[in-house]
Amino acid sequence: MSRDSDEFLKSLNINGKLDKETDPFLKSMNERKIDKVPDFPSLADQGKNMTELLAKFVESQMEGNQIFAPESEQKRRYDMCQVCEHFVKHAKRCRKCGCYMKHKVKLEVSECPIHKW
Ligand code: SF4
Repeated sequence: MSRDSDEFLKSLNINGKLDKETDPFLKSMNERKIDKVPDFPSLADQGKNMTELLAKFVESQMEGNQIFAPESEQKRRYDMCQVCEHFVKHAKRCRKCGCYMKHKVKLEVSECPIHKW
């Protein structure tokens, strides 16, 4: 399922400043003539996912664990994402959690929401 980009933009335009000319993701979609956006989780769910990740990150840091996963593990994770049916290639985001996977795979505490890695 997907929504029209204008509808999506309207739903995100909380402060009235987000548009296809200034937002990098929407600008990229506009330039590539992609007029449908994938259904990412709601902003509330994305916020919840981020909060949970941050809580795990802080807990892990207090236990003295490393911040970043080894590079080989980061690559293994990202390779799996790239062939996953939930990976949105042009946005480099996961449709399940809404995260930008190039960044998420780097953190040691990150997890795939459906346990692929
Ligand atoms: S995090 Fe998991 S569900 Fe999301 S794109 Fe990667 S492998 Fe797929």
